[in-house]
Amino acid sequence: MSRTRKIVINGIVQGVGFRPFIYNLAKKYSLNGFVSNTSEGVIIETNASDDIFNEFLNDIKLKKPPQSEISSIKISDTEEKNFDDFKIIKSISNDLVTTSIPADLAICSDCINDIFDSSNRRYLYPFTNCTNCGPRFSIIKKIPYDRKWTTMSSFDMCDECAEEYSDPLNRRFHAQPNACPRCGPRVWSFKNKKLIYDDEAINFIVDEIISNRVVLIKGIGGFHIAANPFDENAVKELRKIKSRDFKPFAIMVSNIDSIKNYVFISDSEMNLISSPKAPIVMLKKKNRKIFELVATSLDSVGVMIAYTPLHRIIFKKLEDRGFKNPLVMTSANFKDEPLVKDNSAAKKLFSNYPVLYHNRDIHNRIDDSVLMVDRFNNIRITRRARGYVPNSINVNSDFKDHIFAAGADMKNCFAFYRHGEVIISQHIGDLEMVENRNFYIKSYKNFKKLFNFLPFVAVADMHPGYYSKQITEGFNFKKIFYVQHHISHIYSVMAENNIDDDIIGVAFDGVGYGLDGNIWGGEFFVIKNRDVKRAAGFNYFKLPGGDLCSSEIWRSFLSIFSSNRGFVKSFLKDRVDPKNVDIVFNMMDKNINSPLSSSVGRIFDAVSVLVTGSVISNFEAEGPMKIEALAYKKVKGFYDFDINENGGFYSILIDRAVDEMIYDYKNGRADEISARFHRGIVKLIKKICIKLSEENKIKRVAISGGVFQNKFLINLIQEEFRKSGLNIYLNSAVPSNDGGISLGQIYYYLKNISKLNHGNLIE
Ligand code: ZN
Ligand code: ZN
Ligand code: FE
Repeated sequence: MSRTRKIVINGIVQGVGFRPFIYNLAKKYSLNGFVSNTSEGVIIETNASDDIFNEFLNDIKLKKPPQSEISSIKISDTEEKNFDDFKIIKSISNDLVTTSIPADLAICSDCINDIFDSSNRRYLYPFTNCTNCGPRFSIIKKIPYDRKWTTMSSFDMCDECAEEYSDPLNRRFHAQPNACPRCGPRVWSFKNKKLIYDDEAINFIVDEIISNRVVLIKGIGGFHIAANPFDENAVKELRKIKSRDFKPFAIMVSNIDSIKNYVFISDSEMNLISSPKAPIVMLKKKNRKIFELVATSLDSVGVMIAYTPLHRIIFKKLEDRGFKNPLVMTSANFKDEPLVKDNSAAKKLFSNYPVLYHNRDIHNRIDDSVLMVDRFNNIRITRRARGYVPNSINVNSDFKDHIFAAGADMKNCFAFYRHGEVIISQHIGDLEMVENRNFYIKSYKNFKKLFNFLPFVAVADMHPGYYSKQITEGFNFKKIFYVQHHISHIYSVMAENNIDDDIIGVAFDGVGYGLDGNIWGGEFFVIKNRDVKRAAGFNYFKLPGGDLCSSEIWRSFLSIFSSNRGFVKSFLKDRVDPKNVDIVFNMMDKNINSPLSSSVGRIFDAVSVLVTGSVISNFEAEGPMKIEALAYKKVKGFYDFDINENGGFYSILIDRAVDEMIYDYKNGRADEISARFHRGIVKLIKKICIKLSEENKIKRVAISGGVFQNKFLINLIQEEFRKSGLNIYLNSAVPSNDGGISLGQIYYYLKNISKLNHGNLIE
């Protein structure tokens, strides 16, 4: 018996060829009815017998398009209808929005074939795409995902494109950014102030790259600055624009084979780098001198594959002319301001450089994502942006209201919760800069509109000086709850793994505002019966000069190694003006602007001063990254930390480790310090976790915080804990750095709602 049923499918189902897939499947089973994109999800209505219907449904789940992800399928009976055909009907918009917006996808192999086939009408056309590839999130203004709500709305499709677009059997059926040289966007540039278009413009940019000039290229989520990574002057020029003396830049290559001469690449890294998400993947250099100009003194370099047709065409033309190098491809911005995305801004800011513009507007600015793969083939993310945003994270909750989470001030990402899912914003950056704060506010409004978010409650970090907190307080929420920074880090791991309770948390990072007002960053928590207790932490040391310590890292060294002042003074003698050393010691002794801290990030900085002799940090985590590169050295032993128990709290003392480091340094073993120090940190984590596990009968450990962006460290931790009887959890879907804070804030709120509403928690 045939009856009419309605199927509502949610997940990543728009802009990935889902409707043509359903259409073809319906034809296969001779079903009549319709499929439509709505803001509620993909809706199918069809008449079928139970048997046929079940087969149809099974096929949907098993054979769904490669880029789609189904998060839910709801089936209901609906009034009997007679259909005489199966149709794809126009998108219906209504207010109940639950459907995801797809992330931007790298060019697919079919489209690569199209652009390099001289008989194809899209030969060398830089905006070629299909339902399996192309821009998505970056061009969407509102949902449902339909051409008229994207920045492609200003281009009318030519007859041929329109035919592809409306043919269910065509690869470009309802590919919203579908375009061709006749009807679509174009590139242009200015050569000696003369406007040139298309191939001529691309050829000009290619010429400029070959003559080692720094050029700008508009991509999917913004402009890139590109240059030859092996040319000293080009890289110098690039650093001048970015005001970054040593910060590493990412590399783009045309294919994987071309990178194999420079770096090691495992199968998992290969899969990740060549996936449609096409992120920057951190790869180990074959030797430290490779890419020395762009990744100075580091053991790895960020690499991505040319992910748009425009990039592919540029590389092809470069190769045709004998230029076979990879390219530096870094976000076009000043210092750490937002990425430049609009033609007008690029023209204003970069008029001295050759710029390749195009007229497919970028609505949502989005950077390249940065990831790495650890030794156990787990993906670890550093920057979550293109290819990943706005994919949601399921947190298994039936809480009905929407929630906003403000995130932290560094590496900010905010987040929204609705219907069991968390949607995290693209990487916004450091809110210290007013440009990033404007980007934050704009993106907040944009996300609200895109997803119809209506939160009445917000969660923010409790740091009194945080802009994220202050801005959120200006947004008119009914209620705002404040969560401690490191507790949010731990909850971000719990959220990813759907863990409710009963876990030990290890949070090591640079700076977070502690519950006692001190600067935390080396904390152990016990989370049990919904109660969060700080159970252990590094003994407080002083940070003379406060925030200055994060750039003038010798201040942290001076303080952390101050149990041996004679050594500190003689070590710093030739590196820092001795007058300043005396002033800083004096500040510390008299408690002038010397806040207390337990930050492991600062301890890593201090150790890096001893090991590398560099007393200044040119960019965030420079010191830790440099000593990470030295940690692989085979050594015996590790530095031990003493632990003091006081009223149920374990204080970690660093003095013995400091003495041993100084001893090694004085005895000509400076090159072994990093390896022993890293090992010591891992042994310490294990020792305290085992103690807390036995005392509290807890077998799980969540590890998070920016310190764990260190691949050597997380590899060793995973190895060390293997036979410990404890299960450890690390971030994978969100960064362990502050980019993961907003997810943790939301999860903390969800898990503590009853308490929070009774007002007896951190508020
Ligand atoms: Zn394609
Ligand atoms: Zn066309
Ligand atoms: Fe943090």
